Amino acid sequence: MGADPIDALLGPEEQAFRAEVRAFIRDTLPAQARRNADLGRHATKDEVLQWQRALYAKGWAAPTWPKEYGGTGWDPVRLYLFTLECGLGSAPKVPAFGTKMIGPVLYTFGSKAQKDFYLPRIQRAEDWWCQGFSEPGAGSDLAALQTRADRVGDRWIVNGQKIWTTKAQHANRMFALVRTGGGTRRQEGISMLLIDMDSPGIELRPIIGIDGSHSLNEVFLTDVSVPVENLVGEAGRGWDYARFLLANERSDITGVGRSRRQLARLRGLAADADAGLLAQIAEADIALTALELTELRYLAAQARGEGIGAGASILKLRGTEIQQELTRLLREALGADALRHGAAPGEGAEGVLEEYLYNRASTIYGGSSEIQRGLIARAALAEGA
Ligand SMILES: Cc1cc2nc3c(=O)[nH]c(=O)nc-3n(C[C@H](O)[C@H](O)[C@H](O)COP(=O)(O)OP(=O)(O)OC[C@H]3O[C@@H](n4cnc5c(N)ncnc54)[C@H](O)[C@@H]3O)c2cc1C
Repeated sequence: MGADPIDALLGPEEQAFRAEVRAFIRDTLPAQARRNADLGRHATKDEVLQWQRALYAKGWAAPTWPKEYGGTGWDPVRLYLFTLECGLGSAPKVPAFGTKMIGPVLYTFGSKAQKDFYLPRIQRAEDWWCQGFSEPGAGSDLAALQTRADRVGDRWIVNGQKIWTTKAQHANRMFALVRTGGGTRRQEGISMLLIDMDSPGIELRPIIGIDGSHSLNEVFLTDVSVPVENLVGEAGRGWDYARFLLANERSDITGVGRSRRQLARLRGLAADADAGLLAQIAEADIALTALELTELRYLAAQARGEGIGAGASILKLRGTEIQQELTRLLREALGADALRHGAAPGEGAEGVLEEYLYNRASTIYGGSSEIQRGLIARAALAEGA
């Protein structure tokens, strides 16, 4: 494994860096955690925390952050190689909520006190964040959110409901969008609050996914009292911070490394497959190569200080379509064997059905494919105008 299009583009120093990351993952990652990630299972809380702490000890806990906040200072190619190797090496996916989502919001828009307190805690895996954006009736149309926060003295009093809150059962903190005021547009009057999940008035109800796992939750907030200093940036500007955050969330879903790993598993299982299936696997490989080159093109543009327009939407859309295609092809390659829930350890079908089912959600979370297509079309039409 490892022969992919980027190999031909790397110089000796980049090759050496890549080898260092690969060796670190090989030598540091516990076998069970690697196996779980390899089979597409949700990592356990312990696996995630242990891995994040190992990364912290190595100085790699938040690679994308500016150096002054503990980032690595890697150039875009090294950042890409790191993510790629984590996917290829089946490292547990460190929840993006801390390092990729609220962390960058805080070092960009947060107060000094918020930066000093939260940023080191995110790197050391002392906090587990969840994302309180979606509500019943406010998913794609996020500006329809109804959860309110009213200012009473030096507190915000929060009332409302969030839904689809991933891993909230592990979280001790939530970044939430709440309505704090009015405005002529619905996007006005939305603010971002940092909420302690141990606060009185927070109730969690699990939602069991189609794969049988518990990763989703409903979160009910009744008169939850939040200190005013837990407001991010300015009141009423939460929509801007959310858009900034969502672009980071979407790029993180691309998953080229994981998809390359899936492709290798698929090729192993489909060695004796008919020409029709082999052709579909070749097509998926070509699509993945095109995605990888597109991602590299965006990285190069960012390194030159240029914007990438709707690039995050393009990566999210294609990345998840390819992920779904690969889980479908794995199922096809296994035939009837793939239909067994909970295949035993060591069986070819282990984890395949569960991952296939859970992955149906990838074209919904982080903004559905239809919404991404709308954003891409709008950007393209604006460019052409
Ligand atoms: C596994 C999973 C994890 C999630 N984790 C989180 C989380 O941690 N925190 C969080 O806040 N949210 C989370 N979400 C919620 C996710 O962001 C929303 O599900 C998503 O934005 C879609 O919103 P919705 O479910 O309300 O569907 P709706 O918005 O009701 O959409 C229903 C359908 O209509 C289509 N549609 C809607 N509007 C348009 C339009 N304008 N043009 C074309 N088609 C449209 C959609 O594409 C979709 O097919 C998660 C969702 C899933 C499935």
